[in-house]
Amino acid sequence: MQTLVRITGDRLIMRPKVIFLADMESFYASVETSCNPSLRGKPVAVCGDPALRHGIILAASREAKAFGIKTGQPAWEARRLCPWVIFVHPRMQTYIDYSLHLTRIFEQFTDRVLPYSVDEQFLDLTGLENILGSPQKLAADINRRVWKETGIRCRIGMGENPLQAKMACDCFAKKCPNAFFELNGANYACRTWNLPVSSLFGVGHRMEPTWPVCHGKCFAAAGESTGKFYGLTLTGSIIPLLNRHRFTNKKESAIQRPCPGIIANRRRSSWFCWK
Ligand SMILES: [Mg+2]
Repeated sequence: MQTLVRITGDRLIMRPKVIFLADMESFYASVETSCNPSLRGKPVAVCGDPALRHGIILAASREAKAFGIKTGQPAWEARRLCPWVIFVHPRMQTYIDYSLHLTRIFEQFTDRVLPYSVDEQFLDLTGLENILGSPQKLAADINRRVWKETGIRCRIGMGENPLQAKMACDCFAKKCPNAFFELNGANYACRTWNLPVSSLFGVGHRMEPTWPVCHGKCFAAAGESTGKFYGLTLTGSIIPLLNRHRFTNKKESAIQRPCPGIIANRRRSSWFCWK
């Protein structure tokens, strides 16, 4: 999305928006490690009490993930994969406190911060390049601040709208060594062409048997041009199109119902728009 940006004095130009999605790595496990530095470098998994049938892994540290431990696994399976894994009980209030601290850090860069979940926050940094530096520098500065103040690693996806930023983070930044990736009008189509359809934000794995191959091919199959696909993805209206082409049974579709989070966020902030 293009927006008017003031350069100097009365000079106004149209520029794409600069939207970041900052996502915390292994958030619950990172908070526990930050609170208890003796856990640093060890396989840590946050999970409930198996005796109370709450023994599901909620978060695993990077070291625990190296053993194959994943969110959603039962504790017994995690123990089988790594017998010396350290289980920690969740402390939601502490995680919320850390999340609020993160918001305060981000608000030192921009007044347009939108917490999207306990460990993900959108930032609108449009027009700040001349003051704070390039988006790459900004992302590095934000990462450094978050690490210094909380001991948590942060990954940042950048886009011209929140949808692109979210996909840049989930599909690319998490795998990048510098934990930053930018999707924009120039690289969006080629970078997302070969991704599975479930990598589209709002589309779940249940769609894959129906649209198994990739973004581009799924639209070719649906008789849509890549250009239309690209435009629809940018405007966030891809989901109704997918539904119209495939789903007749509402129960089959994981994306039929509007996401409550998106609606809540739309009400919360006037600057925030998925387009
Ligand atoms: Mg996260």
